[in-house]
Parts: sequence; structure tokens; C-alpha cells
Amino acid sequence: MMSNRTQHRDVQRATPAGALIACPECDLLQQEVRLPPHGVAVCQRCGAELYHNTPNGLDRTLAFTLCGVMLYCLANLFPLLGLELKGNQSTTTLYGAVRALYDQKLEPVAVLVFVTTILVPGLELLCMTYMLLPLRMGKTAHGFRLVFRFVQAIHPWGMVEVFMLGILVSVVKLSNFASVLPGIALWSFAGLMVMIAAVAQSFNPRDLWLFVRARA
Ligand SMILES: [Zn+2]
Repeated sequence: MMSNRTQHRDVQRATPAGALIACPECDLLQQEVRLPPHGVAVCQRCGAELYHNTPNGLDRTLAFTLCGVMLYCLANLFPLLGLELKGNQSTTTLYGAVRALYDQKLEPVAVLVFVTTILVPGLELLCMTYMLLPLRMGKTAHGFRLVFRFVQAIHPWGMVEVFMLGILVSVVKLSNFASVLPGIALWSFAGLMVMIAAVAQSFNPRDLWLFVRARA
């Protein structure tokens, strides 16, 4: 039997007809229960979250993902930062910053920044759109299972928030000897960070599989 962390604790009863689910932390087999909106099912032995119920989870995740795609495009197309020193102005884009690191013989850092802030977030948003958009229209995308596992595998390598923190520290330090002008991409990057967190929060793999199973 499972319990609920929310105020709906009393509705948590294992039903005889419920499907079995294994706890991802301790492997205890338990029966699924129907959850109220925003309810969370937790393992009765170790307390790990088994699944949760997000109302309109698919629509929310898709909306956050599409917003993230737009912000990602802005973050990569427009200048990230501008510097003004003794009348000289210079701006750089995100890719320009990676290129500058590479040109300064900091190849490992350049590759790390490229992978964690451009490649992985871009691939993740692309794959999420590829999976969710057809699902929203009542179809299952070709190679859905493969793409789903790919997203789960690359997700830990997306580190937009770490990069954002690095930029903010750099801005504070640079502002001591030059005028720093935040570019459109910097604001877009901040928005992208929020959207990626929102996608992760609303994304519910269990609901997604239930949706796919219903379509099959
Ligand atoms: Zn457990």
C-alpha cells in the first residue's frame, strides 16, 4: 500500500485490481493506487517517490518545451554580453564564447561548455518536442522508446544553470574595469534555465508511457 505526502493521505488505498509497480530505490513490489490531482505516491518501505499526478501534465510539459525552444534560439542567435572599455565596444554570442575559449588553447573547457550549454540542452528540447508534439496530436513518434531513453541518458549533462552562475560571477568581476552590457541572449538564457526546470518538474514519464500505451 502507498501513502500520500499531501493532504489526500486518506484516499491512498491499494486496490485489488491495481497494477504492480517496483520501487526504483528498494525494488519493493506494491500495488498502484489512483491519485488525486497533485497527489504523490511514495514507497511504504523507503519513502521514495513512485509517481505523481500532474493535471494536464502532457500539455504543460509541451508548452514549457516549446517556450524553451524559442528561448534557446534567442540565446544562441543574439549577443550574450557586450563590453565597453575606453570607448571600444565588443559583443559575443554563446558560440563566440566557446570559440574564444578554444582559440585560447582551453580546448577541454571549450568542449565542456559547448556540450553542457549548447549541445545537450538543444538535443533535449529537440527530442522532447519530437516525442510530445505527435503525442499531443494522438500519434506516437517513430522510435519513441529510443528517443525517450536517450533523453533520460543525456539529461544529467545539461548544465545551463551552472553556466548562468559562471556568467553572473564574470559580469560582477568584469564590471570593476569595464562597462558590461547584458545582451538579449543573457535574458533568454535566464528564461531557458527556468523553462528547463519547469519541463523537468512537469515531465512525468509514467503518464507519458500510459499515454503511449493507450495510443498503441
Ligand atoms: Zn522503496
